[in-house]
Amino acid sequence: MESPIQSYLQQIHTEIARLKGGKPYSTIPAMANVDPERFGIALATVDGQVYEVGDTRAEFTIQSISKPFTYGLALEDLGNDAVDAKVDVEPSGDSFNEISLAEGTGRPANAMINAGALTATSLIRGSGGQSSFKRILSTYSAFAGRQLSVDRKVFESELKHGHRNTALAHLLRSFNIIEDDPTPVLEDYFRQCSVLVNSFDLAIMAATLANGGKNPLTHRQVLGIGPVERVLSVMMTSGMYDDAGAWISSVGMPGKSGVAGGIIAVLPGQVGLAVYSPPLDEHGGSVRGLATAQRLSRDMELHFVRAARAGRSAILASYDVTETPSGIRRNAEAADVLRAHGHRARVVELNGDLLFAGTESMVRELSSLDDDVELVVLDLRRTDQVSGVAVRMLDEARTGLSSAGRELVLIEADGAVSESLGGC
Ligand code: GLN
Repeated sequence: MESPIQSYLQQIHTEIARLKGGKPYSTIPAMANVDPERFGIALATVDGQVYEVGDTRAEFTIQSISKPFTYGLALEDLGNDAVDAKVDVEPSGDSFNEISLAEGTGRPANAMINAGALTATSLIRGSGGQSSFKRILSTYSAFAGRQLSVDRKVFESELKHGHRNTALAHLLRSFNIIEDDPTPVLEDYFRQCSVLVNSFDLAIMAATLANGGKNPLTHRQVLGIGPVERVLSVMMTSGMYDDAGAWISSVGMPGKSGVAGGIIAVLPGQVGLAVYSPPLDEHGGSVRGLATAQRLSRDMELHFVRAARAGRSAILASYDVTETPSGIRRNAEAADVLRAHGHRARVVELNGDLLFAGTESMVRELSSLDDDVELVVLDLRRTDQVSGVAVRMLDEARTGLSSAGRELVLIEADGAVSESLGGC
């Protein structure tokens, strides 16, 4: 049976292919000769399933979709504070090549506009025998799960015709935001924009971000969750430049566009979407790419507000041992003891994810137990994801209970939580 997801994508691909608006990018001569009808959609889940429709293996240059990945590498190398000192995290509301520099300091508004992206590129240093650009390319390749390469023609054309970027780089140097010679920085930036990808690659790169920095195909942790969190935040507020507000309202996922016609959207924990179609709107975003992202978001409920799971209660059942069904036949004396003391042992069964909301209902239940409950048995066998917050709160609850001479016992399938609690 063909997957209903596949036939759905086929159907929207056919419909959206009828959209004829927009014009391919023409500022860089080497990019001008593209087929405007090329159109690919690739959707990758965080467990590595990829759905593809249309020209998903057609290659094009990554352009500005490179920016979040270089920014991520800079954050991983230097940490948030050092990077923040050079590039802010505020949406500029300006177009991608605007001179959005803070007055006085020259600090660019964010790493998604060219000024901020040039700055992020300047922060990447060579190491371990690899030049700065080699490290950038290795990072993109690790995100894609295959070795990527540079389109030399586009690179040379950008170098020759990228007057505005050249001006920006020198301006950044004058403010000491770029601290060294801006020429190699510009070259690295133009090279990173000229990296060849296809929609399949971009979907995997997006899914790697959705998967907390771990590539769903190679299972390699490419970026830590800290940098991923920061990258996706900035993509959310600034990834679409002066169209960011409209994008987030209608699509509701961190996104990034590139002037070759690529576009990505990331739904954390679920999927990465990539679309390729060269005709661009006035913001430099792919017309069909935007339409596809909007359509998918609406039909598949991917907008972050809808996609967020309702904080359903994590408590499946809570009972004391007098209520536990038992096959044991007791004599009158034992039954009396159980009746008198059974309420002192309570079983709380949890299910679902213990993220903040589930953790809150769990600790609410634990905090509201009668003072004469001496033993709490927490059954975690049906829980899925147990977050760090849940472990911390459980630790506190256990300490609180034990300081009152009460005990918390965990039942779980694999002992992972007890282990992170240091035995329990
Ligand atoms: N190479 C292009 C530039 O720097 C990238 C711009 C973009 O994709 N928005 O102008």
